[in-house]
Amino acid sequence: MKSFVLSDDQSLVPSIATFVHGLGEFDLYAPGPASPALIRCGASKVFTIKDPNMTDSIAELLASKMSSGEYQYGFIASTVNGRDVAGLLAYRANVGSVAEIGSLSLSGSTARTKRYFFGGKSILEEESSSRLFTVAPGIAEAKEIAAESPVEEASLSPSKITVLSSEEKKSGGVDIEKAQAIVSVGRGLGNKDKLSSIEPFANAINAVIAGSRPVCLDYHWLSEDRQVGLSGKKVRPKVYVALGISGQIQHIAGMRGSKIVIAINKDKSAPIFEECDYGIVGDMFEVLPKLVDQLKK
Ligand SMILES: Cc1cc2nc3c(=O)[nH]c(=O)nc-3n(C[C@H](O)[C@H](O)[C@H](O)COP(=O)(O)OP(=O)(O)OC[C@H]3O[C@@H](n4cnc5c(N)ncnc54)[C@H](O)[C@@H]3O)c2cc1C
Repeated sequence: MKSFVLSDDQSLVPSIATFVHGLGEFDLYAPGPASPALIRCGASKVFTIKDPNMTDSIAELLASKMSSGEYQYGFIASTVNGRDVAGLLAYRANVGSVAEIGSLSLSGSTARTKRYFFGGKSILEEESSSRLFTVAPGIAEAKEIAAESPVEEASLSPSKITVLSSEEKKSGGVDIEKAQAIVSVGRGLGNKDKLSSIEPFANAINAVIAGSRPVCLDYHWLSEDRQVGLSGKKVRPKVYVALGISGQIQHIAGMRGSKIVIAINKDKSAPIFEECDYGIVGDMFEVLPKLVDQLKK
């Protein structure tokens, strides 16, 4: 059995590749350059894609390889371009497709998938003969493989899509998905200036600062790429500290994979206390200096 993995975002490759590596042999399709994330992911071969916006050409190539039997299964990162390719490819190769899988087991030609809804509160388990899957971020803990894969450029036919313009999202220069420790702030912070009161604690535990959607998207106290949650980044740090975050399901969906969760909130009935390993009921601006003092000792 051989599969392909397609991701137009290099940072999503290690997790999906680790997951598919456990199922058998696979080739990887991703935009270059051939970074360690690509060449040490366990793929039999890495095919670099010049322009991930050529979704029609990519779908055509992979559909011909699925139809010829070269690939039995396809796993596509669930990004805007990835979902575009999945729809086209399912139609062209005439295969069933399941979107946003969180887990999969294969038995003969039966695929048993799990999908998570409402931030993981509801799980849909299905059996189908689907051979194509878009994959939710963080499906497996990424592992690097020592052996390097050979690399060549994917041979794509000309695309009928013309990109008229594109704009880079503003970035704070930090990749919160790779952080081992995260201090995440919510609306309880009050205002942007108070971020300076959080920094001594974040520095003391060597954490990066992230935030809830209001903090990143609505008030712009932090850049958008630091948003944790359903519509933000999915993080899995060793330690996640939630400060002044109520713990709505859309936020929990982004940090549920964290190993240890600590919450500080002045409302003892805040839902975050149902999700944390350690909780402190109190005002973060009173609690944090005491924690920093203890950490210094
Ligand atoms: C489609 C959709 C997608 C969404 N995606 C996301 C997402 O990706 N990420 C996300 O975060 N949200 C997301 N949301 C929004 C989500 O529903 C919540 O509105 C949001 O998470 C609330 O943010 P918050 O906890 O910072 O604010 P609030 O809910 O207002 O909570 C603030 C908390 O701070 C506490 N507090 C106040 N002052 C202090 C203090 N001094 N010390 C300690 N505690 C204090 C309060 O008790 C309160 O619990 C989404 C919503 C929708 C509809």
